[in-house]
Amino acid sequence: MLGPPGAGKGTQAERLAKVRALPKISTGDILREAVQAGTDLGLAAKVTMEAGNLIGDDVMIGIVLERLDRDDARPGFVLDGFPRTVVQAAALDGMVDGRGPLVVLDIVVPEEVLVRRLATRRICSRCGVNAAVEWTGDCQKCGGPLVARIDDSVDIVRERLKIYQRQTKPLVDYYSTRSTFRSIDGNQPPDTVTGRIDAILAEICGSAT
Ligand SMILES: [Zn+2]
Repeated sequence: MLGPPGAGKGTQAERLAKVRALPKISTGDILREAVQAGTDLGLAAKVTMEAGNLIGDDVMIGIVLERLDRDDARPGFVLDGFPRTVVQAAALDGMVDGRGPLVVLDIVVPEEVLVRRLATRRICSRCGVNAAVEWTGDCQKCGGPLVARIDDSVDIVRERLKIYQRQTKPLVDYYSTRSTFRSIDGNQPPDTVTGRIDAILAEICGSAT
């Protein structure tokens, strides 16, 4: 699943994984797990991050490969945050070869909408969870009060989106001619986006039930 920050990709990936009873594999989670488990790859990732550098393709590919090899990922998986580069995408093609169709969903949201969403994004002051757009009132995980995220000023948000677009354009070009690639309008209520994703998956992979 591809999509810029603020597109609702995390929420949709989580819902899709739940409906299809598949593991949701987010590279952020994998990295944290690998570091905790102290695997060679996890240690390499830790050293790189502590030096303030971005994790290279080789390490990212190794970590995802390791995760996709586990039994729970055999029937399928939902990937969130990987691939980020064409090199990673090509490696992913190798990993899923013979494992069924690789469906690529690109959630597209106009920049102005993303800026508005991100700049007004709230976080729980008690448990630290990112508040979903549809949450009104207090945190729905712990009941704590929601506050604005301090790092999400409009300038920072625009810069993050610019970097995302620059990095992702080659990736979208890489996938866009495939019959299993779909762009989804993410500027709709989350439930509408979920319905659209369900319909696409049913069309390509068959129904969930
Ligand atoms: Zn909370």
